[in-house]
Amino acid sequence: MAAEIRLFPCLTDNFGYLIHDPATGATASVDAPEAAPIIKALEREGWTLTDILITHHHHDHVGGVAELKRKYKCRVVAPHDKSAKIADVDLRTGQGDVVKVGNLMARVLETPGHTLDHISYVFDADKALFAADTLFSIGCGRVFEGNYPLMWNSLLKLRALPDDFKLYCGHEYTAANVKFALTIEPDNAALKARAAEVTRLRAENKPTIPTLLGEEKKANVFLRADQPSVAASVRMKDRSAADVFGELRERKNKS
Ligand code: ZN
Ligand code: FE
Repeated sequence: MAAEIRLFPCLTDNFGYLIHDPATGATASVDAPEAAPIIKALEREGWTLTDILITHHHHDHVGGVAELKRKYKCRVVAPHDKSAKIADVDLRTGQGDVVKVGNLMARVLETPGHTLDHISYVFDADKALFAADTLFSIGCGRVFEGNYPLMWNSLLKLRALPDDFKLYCGHEYTAANVKFALTIEPDNAALKARAAEVTRLRAENKPTIPTLLGEEKKANVFLRADQPSVAASVRMKDRSAADVFGELRERKNKS
């Protein structure tokens, strides 16, 4: 049976996500920015929280964990993290592990760069990627703890997933990302199409997520740092993709 996925806003611009297995009734929250909207979404659906799948230690992704765990006695799954910044963890997980939510299977990819502990969850059967703050629609996370080659390598891992997988990311940043991406690739047809779509969705106060990975590969400049045209547009023709990626990220930081 196919998983049911719900998304809803949390905090200022985070997404809350529930993924539900109708066969067993198991329900996971991917990250827990804050408890109240997650509890509300669970009650609206009549679901009980069985698992929390944490992607990284930032407060806007774990702030609701303690309250949710108290209320539902759910299992908390989190990345290996030597500094143990995430509390209340039941299971530590890393690259290549498979985490079960009822009968649903989430494959874990280590995607460091935004933080060193960042992991992403891939539900292959449901063609769903939860990439939190590694990959945004038309953007990527800031590189806080890692370095540019490390983050670029993480983006390559996500880019290797099939085109028909849906991207569920950590934040509603798409409009600002589109604005920046157009400064680098003003003639990218896929990006221009996405820009029009994002303008329409935001005008209707609708989320820009999920989006298809195949579309991101065509329109997201941060996944395109190894395209000669992108390197040329930042005058870095003979440099490595990781260097071009770093330049794009620096420019976005200042934008
Ligand atoms: Zn973060
Ligand atoms: Fe975040």
